[in-house]
Order: sequence, then structure tokens, then C-alpha cells
Amino acid sequence: MSGSVRVFAQYDRDFDEVCDVVVVGSGPGGAVVARELAAAGKDVVLLEEGPPFTPDDFELDGSLSMARTMREGGLRTTRGTSMTTMQANALGGGSLVNSAICVRAPEFTLDGWCDEFELTHSTRADLDPHYQAVEDFLGIGPTPDAVQGPRNLLFRDACDALGYSSEPMPRNVVGCRGSGECFTGCRTRAKKSMDISYVPAAVADGARVYTSVQVQRLLTRGSRVWGVAGQVVRPFTGELLHRFRIQARIVVLAAGCMATPVLLQRSDDFANGSGQVGENLQFHPGVAAMGVFAEETHPQFGATQGYQSLEFVRDGYKLETLWAPPGVFAVRLPGLGLELKKNLAMIPNAAIWDAIATCNRSKGRVRARRRGLDPALTWRLDPKDLTVLVEGLWRLAEMFFAARATRVLPGVHGLPEELCSLDDARRIQTREFRETDFTLAGNHVFSTTRMHGDGRFGVVDEDGRCHETDNLYIADTGVLPRSPSVNPMLTLMAIAHRTSQHIAARL
Ligand SMILES: Cc1cc2nc3c(=O)[nH]c(=O)nc-3n(C[C@H](O)[C@H](O)[C@H](O)COP(=O)(O)OP(=O)(O)OC[C@H]3O[C@@H](n4cnc5c(N)ncnc54)[C@H](O)[C@@H]3O)c2cc1C
Ligand code: SF4
Repeated sequence: MSGSVRVFAQYDRDFDEVCDVVVVGSGPGGAVVARELAAAGKDVVLLEEGPPFTPDDFELDGSLSMARTMREGGLRTTRGTSMTTMQANALGGGSLVNSAICVRAPEFTLDGWCDEFELTHSTRADLDPHYQAVEDFLGIGPTPDAVQGPRNLLFRDACDALGYSSEPMPRNVVGCRGSGECFTGCRTRAKKSMDISYVPAAVADGARVYTSVQVQRLLTRGSRVWGVAGQVVRPFTGELLHRFRIQARIVVLAAGCMATPVLLQRSDDFANGSGQVGENLQFHPGVAAMGVFAEETHPQFGATQGYQSLEFVRDGYKLETLWAPPGVFAVRLPGLGLELKKNLAMIPNAAIWDAIATCNRSKGRVRARRRGLDPALTWRLDPKDLTVLVEGLWRLAEMFFAARATRVLPGVHGLPEELCSLDDARRIQTREFRETDFTLAGNHVFSTTRMHGDGRFGVVDEDGRCHETDNLYIADTGVLPRSPSVNPMLTLMAIAHRTSQHIAARL
């Protein structure tokens, strides 16, 4: 039985639907749940606020692309410690614009979650079959050398020179051509983002997918939820039109770590007797530095993020290569006018690498604003986590010079604009920094509806079911009880895979 995908142009009136399971959000969490339940023969409706994008819709200009694919134009920012954080608004959610990095969380992290959050079946061994199922479905594998390009291979050389472990990035791609365009959308369709993988598979198994529909509240009766309601939304303008209601036996919220708590708060604080909804906001923020080499690196060629080092994960940070449209990172280059022009001219000889830090001590909160569904975010970087980010920055500089970079641009206030030698870079280790010295970015977000074995301290149990209600589930990164220490998408999909099996067994 084949389902359907409805797009904005096909709505001309209010509508009501009935189904077994309604899933809100088509990112990595929601798409996995929708497909697995449809494959199990359940009647599934998947609702997504954003539109579908095809290669013809992608914009190579980074700013224009952000304006079209991201919430708040990609400029959403935390208060407290100021940091940008991007959430997509598109069929496929973050998977449309992300770098396709798929890494299993380390054993020590998952086992640590179990101890700290009173979980009984969330060790690495428990999740391994779910990781495997997702990896098999998406064809996840290491990035081949042929599409690494010099800026990724220089990272490997640096790790080899310093004796640090490194590995080609595991990614959900098939036939990647190394165009480095993951951030603006993969024009070759090599990246198996949800819109071209799990969502079509759900449709093939009968799921009905509605795009350009904004869920605005849960429909509840006592301690149970019986559906969701909202309005059709015109792409790129936010204009709200026809109303809809979807009635379901089970509701799964997968609207993302920022949107799901807002939906619950907007629904008279449903499922929030614990007071934990929107609390415990955590990020996996990163610092990036640019190395400049004597020879050309041709940075426009190569898998967007092709190499990683897990050498320092136990110390609280992970090292990676990074690429984005030049316009996106050019705003961080020093200088104005002629000087900026001179710095931009270095890009053909440059590589950018980043360190992302676990930052479990740094917490914040998501709150609904008086109007609309965009969240108010507060977050504060803990001084000890700042120390870890500084350590990560030092490690990047050390690696650049080990790979024979001639200069490193750290992009941090209080340091020279260019570090010209390893000795010069040692200033990173000796200087006292403040959080405001760094330009941080945090696109990995967690824990605002965290899982906990005890309903007083968390929102969902290990199966993703809300402690306070029988038929409401959550399947986005909000359920991760803390940072997975590595990029979160694969761990989220593994957890969503487990949640879908639990729901299927109940229906
Ligand atoms: C630029 C970038 C690069 C990244 N790179 C990687 C990477 O390489 N590897 C990795 O592991 N992680 C990466 N991440 C993070 C990863 O993409 C996210 O962790 C992941 O997408 C989260 O999945 P999710 O299902 O929780 O939420 P999302 O992907 O945010 O999906 C939620 C969906 O719900 C929809 N939605 C929200 N509110 C409503 C509503 N009211 N009604 C209907 N629909 C709604 C949204 O439009 C969205 O499509 C990256 C993130 C960004 C922004
Ligand atoms: S590097 Fe290019 S070809 Fe490869 S997955 Fe990303 S956008 Fe697609």
C-alpha cells in the first residue's frame, strides 16, 4: 500500500484526519518512527512544518540557504552565554542541511547515562542492535579517500604526526562526490537525508505525509492525548492558513529539542508535573580555527566533514574537519576592506577544523514566548567547560602546525589574529579567557525532555513514553539525558528505532 505526500499547493480547506499514530516532525527522530511503524502495518500520519526541498530549490549562497531552510534564518541565539544554534524547517529536518556524520556514542558515555539517570536498558550493548539497523538502512560507511580532498587528509596527517588516533568519518551517504555542499543541501542526492530515505520508505508502506503544516497544540482529555491541531503554513513567509486536526491513538512528538517543549508548554503544560519540560538544555558547542598552508588545499573539494579524531573524547572534546560556504565563515575572518580582501584570498590555501566539547556542566532552558512557537533560550557556559574548549583550540593549533601550516587564525578575542608558529600558539595555553572571547556555535542540542528512570526528574522513560501519560511519546534529541559526546543524529535514530518497536508492540 502506498501513502502520499501533500505539499502546500494542495491545501484548499480545513481538514481532519484519523490514524493510529501521528508523528510531529520529520527530522531523524520522527522519520525513523514513522517508517518503522508504517512498515509494521500501522496507520501513520507524519506532520512537518517545513516544505520539501529538491536540488532545484537549493541555494549555494550560504546566507540565502539559511534564510530558506532554517528557523529564524539560522540566526537563533541563546541568552546568558551568547551562542548561535541552527534548527532546520524542512522535510527531513536537520538531516537536509547537516554533514551526514553518523557516529555511535562511546560505551563509557551510554553506560554513564544508565548510572546517572536510573536507566536499565540503555547501555551501548542495548543500543547496538538499533544502531546496526539504522546503519544498514542508510548504508552508513567510512568516507573513502577518493573524496576526502587535501583539507581532510591534512587532518589525518596531523594526527599521524602527533600519534593521535583518527578515522575517516562514517556518514549516511551513498556515492558522495566530495562537493562540500552538505550545508546547503546535497545536489547529487548522495546524502541520505530523511526526505529521500526514511520518509519515502514510510510513504511506500502507506504513511500519509503532510508538509507545510504547523502543529500548534496537543488535544488532551484528562491525562491522555487524543490528537494534535494546527494550521497550514505558507513556505518562507510563515502565513498561517487552513486549520487541521489529526486524531490518533498515539501521539509522537519529534519536533526537535527546542520545539517539543514549547508545544507541551503551549498545551497547558501537558505532561509536565515534574517541571522538567524545557529544563536541562544542553549543547555540544564547537570552536573552529583556520590553518593556512603554503600549497593550495582546494578546499571547495572534499567531503564536508571527512575526518575525525576520538582521541580526546574522554577528556570532553572531539576533533573534526569542517567546511561550509565561504560566505558563512568569512564573517569570522579578521579585518575590513583591503585587509579582509587579503584574508579572503587565503581561502584556496586553507583548511578549517573544529573541536566540539561535551559541556555537561553547562545548562539552560527553553521557554515558550508570549506569541508564536519560536523558543526563548537561555544557556550559560560553565567555566570548567570553557577550559575544555580552550584545550580543544590548543589541540587544533598544534595539529595545524604538525601538518605544516604556515599560519593559524584562531578567531578568538585576546589572541593575535594570526599565530605563526607552535611557540606562538602556546599563548592559548597560558592566557586567561572569558566566555565572551569565543565565537561559539551549538547545533547539537539535547535534554529538554530528558529520559530518566524516575518521573520526578525526567519527562520520558527509556521507551520514549511520557511518564505522566500513557499514549504520548517523544522521539527527538530532547530525550537524550545529556550529551552523547559525539554527533547526536545516529544515537537519536537508534533510540527512535527502539521507541518505534515499543509502540508497534502496543498497538
Ligand atoms: C548545520 C548542521 C549540521 C549538523 N551536522 C550534524 C552531523 O553531521 N551529524 C549529526 O549527528 N548531527 C548533526 N547536526 C545535528 C542534527 O542534525 C540534529 O541533532 C538532528 O537533526 C536532530 O533531529 P530531531 O529529529 O531531534 O530534530 P530536527 O532535525 O530539528 O527535526 C524536527 C522537525 O520538526 C519540525 N517541526 C518543528 N516544530 C514543528 C511544528 N510545530 N509542527 C510541525 N513540525 C514541526 C521541524 O521543521 C523539523 O523538520 C547538525 C545540525 C546542523 C543544524
Ligand atoms: S560532500 Fe557533496 S556530494 Fe557528498 S554528501 Fe555532502 S553535498 Fe553530497
